Amino acid sequence: MEHLIEGRWQSGADHFHVCDPANGGTVTHVPQATQSDVAAAVKTARSVEDSWAFVTAGERATMLHAVADRIAAQLEPLAAATTAEMGRPLASSRDSVRAAVATVRQYAELGPLHRGRSLMGRTDALDLMLHRPRGVVAAITPWNDPVAVACGLLAAAVVTGNVVVHKPSERTPGVGYLLTRCFAEELPEGVISLVNGGPAVGAALAGAAVDVVAHVGATRTGRAIAAACAATGAKALLENGGSDPLIVDSGVDPRWAAEQAAVGAFANAGQICTAVERVYVHEAISDAFVVALLEQAGRLRMGPGTDPTTTLGPLVDVAHRDAVHAQVAASVRAGASVRCGGVAPDGPGAYYPATVLTDCTDQMAVVHEETFGPVAPVMVVRSFAEALSRAGGSPYGLAATVLTPSMGHAQQAVYELPVGTVKINAVFGGAPGGAAQPRRGSGQGFGYGPELLDELTVTKVGHICAPPPTAPDQRS
Ligand code: NAD
Repeated sequence: MEHLIEGRWQSGADHFHVCDPANGGTVTHVPQATQSDVAAAVKTARSVEDSWAFVTAGERATMLHAVADRIAAQLEPLAAATTAEMGRPLASSRDSVRAAVATVRQYAELGPLHRGRSLMGRTDALDLMLHRPRGVVAAITPWNDPVAVACGLLAAAVVTGNVVVHKPSERTPGVGYLLTRCFAEELPEGVISLVNGGPAVGAALAGAAVDVVAHVGATRTGRAIAAACAATGAKALLENGGSDPLIVDSGVDPRWAAEQAAVGAFANAGQICTAVERVYVHEAISDAFVVALLEQAGRLRMGPGTDPTTTLGPLVDVAHRDAVHAQVAASVRAGASVRCGGVAPDGPGAYYPATVLTDCTDQMAVVHEETFGPVAPVMVVRSFAEALSRAGGSPYGLAATVLTPSMGHAQQAVYELPVGTVKINAVFGGAPGGAAQPRRGSGQGFGYGPELLDELTVTKVGHICAPPPTAPDQRS
């Protein structure tokens, strides 16, 4: 494994390794970037900034389609690396690579259509609003969906004429390497660089002389990046953590509601930014709902991501598994009841079972904080109004789901919940092209969708007047 600095793939002096979360074995050795590697990568990016900015949007789009072809051709290695480094079941890793290819193609199509405006000024002048690239974008990406998330930022940045320094998560550097190669092989030298390492390398990059720091990751990191950007003047674009509520209203089928809750809480072992992190269920159906949710949890088959029968892979690593369990254990000490799961199995690997907790309160960390594991804390409410108010009382504001037969409640939820995305009667999904701004601890700006092109460009105005008529005796 190598990193890409000064337009050359190179291996560094120091290395770190990544363990397979399924069995603890080593899967990747990666060069660790130094502060001077980060500075060199930023310097290279700066040196090609102007030439790349003046490549036409159509040419950039053609290159991005070629990048998408390369990613599609690398589907198996990318999916295998995802499963090996972060544990996701292989079929789901493949789906994620397919989604990434679609995202790159979408930005290849959208880039040339990112139009400016003409203004109604003087008839002897031309007034235009036009988009220009911001310059050097530091893309600092997470491990939980490492191909699809990184592809959105890298493709949108490149198609709008920015140059990129990519720092993938230290938990999925093998994926970051394979993916960055796909971009680098189709783009002019220096338009994309790759630096590897953990928080110290991320902090060095976030504090460097870049124009945008686009971070997808934990809220705590996002706050540190926002502070670094305040010091340098770079723009911070943050897609951070969440603690998404699921409201189950009276009158819905409790078995269907439990299926939705199980998908939302346990898919990708709960390691999705918009996973269901807390459930508010109406007392009229709460008993039947909990029974059905336990049934759903019991159906999951925990095992390595490489086993095609696995539906619940390991968590990303043992440290994260222990952090998830610490939240569960603290909630139990504070009065929660474990209805299933709640015990980390012995043996190698970072496994954690699907866990359902009842008798939870909003003050417990498992409810109040992001857990990012396969844990469903359930709270019983007496009314929809109570559910809505408690769901909104969170330090995060990413998304929320409401299951209800009432159009009135659905509309009320869409208007009143203080989050970026409100989903009614489906935990996941949404039309292509949708983009929302997260709120509070969940970040700032549009991290995806067509609006990401606006975030990664500056809009300037050109006021172009004709020169005054030249006097006849001055004409040559
Ligand atoms: P993380 O913030 O720990 O790491 C993400 C990236 O930031 C990594 O590359 C990491 O090395 C880097 N980093 C860590 N500390 C840094 C620092 N001080 N300065 C600069 N960079 C630093 O997050 P993670 O654990 O990799 O990812 C999981 C988190 O990502 C969860 O909170 C999840 O909700 C969030 N996430 C959000 C979205 C979204 O769209 N809102 C999508 C995916 C994941």
